[in-house]
Amino acid sequence: MDRIYIKRLEVFAKHGVFPEENVLGQKFLISAVLHTDVRAAGKTDDLKKSIHYGEVSHMMKEYLEGHTFALLERAVETLAEKMLLEIPGLWEVELELEKPWAPIGLPLETVSVAIRRGWHRAYIALGSNMGQREEYLKMAVDRIGQIRGCQVERVSSFLSTAPYGGVEQDDFLNGCMQIRTLLTPRELLDALQGIEREAGRERKVHWGPRTLDLDIIFYDREVVDEEDLQIPHIEMQKRDFVLLPLREIAPYLRHPVTGKTVSEMAEELTQHYVM
Ligand code: ADP
Ligand code: MG
Repeated sequence: MDRIYIKRLEVFAKHGVFPEENVLGQKFLISAVLHTDVRAAGKTDDLKKSIHYGEVSHMMKEYLEGHTFALLERAVETLAEKMLLEIPGLWEVELELEKPWAPIGLPLETVSVAIRRGWHRAYIALGSNMGQREEYLKMAVDRIGQIRGCQVERVSSFLSTAPYGGVEQDDFLNGCMQIRTLLTPRELLDALQGIEREAGRERKVHWGPRTLDLDIIFYDREVVDEEDLQIPHIEMQKRDFVLLPLREIAPYLRHPVTGKTVSEMAEELTQHYVM
């Protein structure tokens, strides 16, 4: 992706862990790398097709001067989030906040904290087989869209399927959704589990009835293989109730490890049934 640089913009602000710093203030320097696509602006000479670095510079200055944080970490984290939420076309941002007059009693040139944050694309599978199944799935879509830093991009239709795993229970209603998120995979899992709890899900029987089940299927092309979190979801290629709704919204999406598309995986699974 293309980049727009803003280097060492000077601001006078009051961040610091010492109370004096929060009153007197001092000089800071903020640098930003904006990851965006400038091809259309380059072709047309139209500023509206790019990001206005003047406006962004003012936004950063006003934000850093208008708030007081103890830590540089907090200042750049919250500023990056604001920029990603408010600047259209900004996919990723790198920020570095320098504090040349940091009061540590030593003659250093500068200290700084640098971070890189951005939007990620994730796919979530939804399932319910207790009570008002459709209401639970719709509620989940709404609640996921309300998480700060999550935007719903696509939602599949809901599909009724027979239960999986050999436990006697009602049919499931399943769907899939595509979101854009600023959350890490683990933060996303925590948020989804909060919504499951809100729906009153009790974990009594593994693969047993549940009001709401929310699974992360893909998160960019990332592979996570931790004890309590595996991405891509470890069972996805065996589950028609994941693959069929997912195929509606992302047929050409590829599994980052096997390289198979969602369509191919769905096809293989259905053939498997016939045999
Ligand atoms: P399943 O979704 O396989 O039917 P559960 O929802 O009961 O079963 O499993 C929940 C556990 O699965 C959670 O505690 C969570 O830590 C773990 N888990 C591992 N990978 C994922 C993932 N990609 N998405 C959601 N949960 C996951
Ligand atoms: Mg689950």
